[in-house]
Amino acid sequence: MPTSAPSPLPPSHDSDSAPLGTVTDSLVEANKRYAAEFTDPGMDAHPVRRVAVVACMDARIDLHAALGLELGDCHTIRNAGGVVTDDIIRSLTISQRALGTRSVVLIHHTNCGLLTLTEDFRHEIEEEVGQRPAWAVEAFRDLDADVRQSMQRVRTSPFLPHTDDVRGFVFDVATGLLREISPRN
Ligand SMILES: [Zn+2]
Repeated sequence: MPTSAPSPLPPSHDSDSAPLGTVTDSLVEANKRYAAEFTDPGMDAHPVRRVAVVACMDARIDLHAALGLELGDCHTIRNAGGVVTDDIIRSLTISQRALGTRSVVLIHHTNCGLLTLTEDFRHEIEEEVGQRPAWAVEAFRDLDADVRQSMQRVRTSPFLPHTDDVRGFVFDVATGLLREISPRN
């Protein structure tokens, strides 16, 4: 199953003794192999299935595999938590107005790192570096409530022309299954 796929990374991948650049070097090497097999799909930038997926950046979520998406099908917009921030609205606005998407899918997930953080994270950074981050941590305690809030932020954005097909889900990182969240509590 995708969530338990063996990791190709060496056991020391989280060690700070690894030489700098090693991971990136391996990615660049992988890209050379990828490009050797690559053929130009001849697509333009408009997503074929006219959908934008907003999801957490979590490493355990393989969005294309989990949703049956192919290259060229969708926009994927990811950040910590899959939170609908101003920058997500910026991307969705471009996605809809310039590149023709019509549907929005929002995906949070079980065991999200943001469930363990609080706004104290920002205060701690401020104390450490002497400058307060302009952004909110957007930590949350209740996954379902946060998905609902994200749906609400998309639906009420004045910049988005298409807000009639906005649906929110929680992805279970242990089963790979989506659970839909009703917009109403
Ligand atoms: Zn997450």
